[in-house]
Amino acid sequence: MANNKNNPVLYIVVPCFNEQEVLPSSNEKLLNLMTLMKEQSLVSRDSKLLYVDDGSRDGTWEIISSLVSDHRDVAGVKLACNSGHQNALMAGLASAVDHCDITVTIDADLQDDINVIPKMVERYNDGCDIVFGVRQERKTDSWFKRTTASMFYKLMNRLGVNTINNHADYRLMSRRAVMALLDYKERNLFIRGIVTKLGYKTDCVYYDRTARTAGESKYPFKKMMNFAIDGITSFSVKPVRMVFMVGVLFLIIAMIMLIYVLTAYFMGRAVSGWPSLILSIWLVGAFILIGLGIIGEYVGKIYTEVKNRPRYNIDTTLGLGQ
Ligand code: UDP
Ligand code: MG
Repeated sequence: MANNKNNPVLYIVVPCFNEQEVLPSSNEKLLNLMTLMKEQSLVSRDSKLLYVDDGSRDGTWEIISSLVSDHRDVAGVKLACNSGHQNALMAGLASAVDHCDITVTIDADLQDDINVIPKMVERYNDGCDIVFGVRQERKTDSWFKRTTASMFYKLMNRLGVNTINNHADYRLMSRRAVMALLDYKERNLFIRGIVTKLGYKTDCVYYDRTARTAGESKYPFKKMMNFAIDGITSFSVKPVRMVFMVGVLFLIIAMIMLIYVLTAYFMGRAVSGWPSLILSIWLVGAFILIGLGIIGEYVGKIYTEVKNRPRYNIDTTLGLGQ
């Protein structure tokens, strides 16, 4: 396939997990945008929407397959079971990469403004390989989601994980950027941490995030926490160093205590108290346990990496690249 800088083949990759409520309306908006971009010759006539059904348990796949038979420019991939948002994205990108010049990934609920996609394509034409969609404000997210998200981004940056602030997984990637991303074989995926490491020329486009129009968030608190922990431990060893520093601090305190006890002894004021003793046992025990917990997190990661399991398993593919 020719690597068209102008009029590139665009695949919009949309991961869907139990999205039957929003899918029809999202599809209509995306198709309208696609038609518009094709008419303006911004993207090639071969461009498509690619829906990845991440093992949904509702009617999502039925909707996708009927969309594929109704529209030439819709394709679908069905994962055999629920593999998670990040893996669904990887499956979509891997399926799309052989058929297109550029990909845009976007959530099925279209909380991210699709009207900046043409701007993303323009940035690509200007020579960027990756264009990040960045939220200007997130008034429509709940207070809780906003604060936890902003705490998370700050913590990540403190820990040395390079992420773009307020950028989720809404981005344009050129084919070579996707190929480079697919070379990252790790199982504990945190895509937005990897893409900043690829080294290609990047740019940002800005938009306001809107509320989910239908259906519920597929990221309940527990999934969000797991995602945050994955993000940190997959990219940063600082927590382990922190344990080490706490250990050093404790050693220093222990030395001071020793000096204190020795002077007390030689001055004839030996202390009999067990409270201090029992307290130290508890404290030290607690820190050993915390340390073990953090180390365990990394050992767990090593375990999943060495198993080298496939990330997902494709069940069916419809309408790709014809
Ligand atoms: N998603 C997925 N697999 C999952 C969970 C979510 O493919 O296991 C998809 C979901 O369908 C949506 C996107 O990931 O397209 C983001 O999910 P959601 O909008 O629920 O997250 P939020 O916007 O609340 O962070
Ligand atoms: Mg959402």
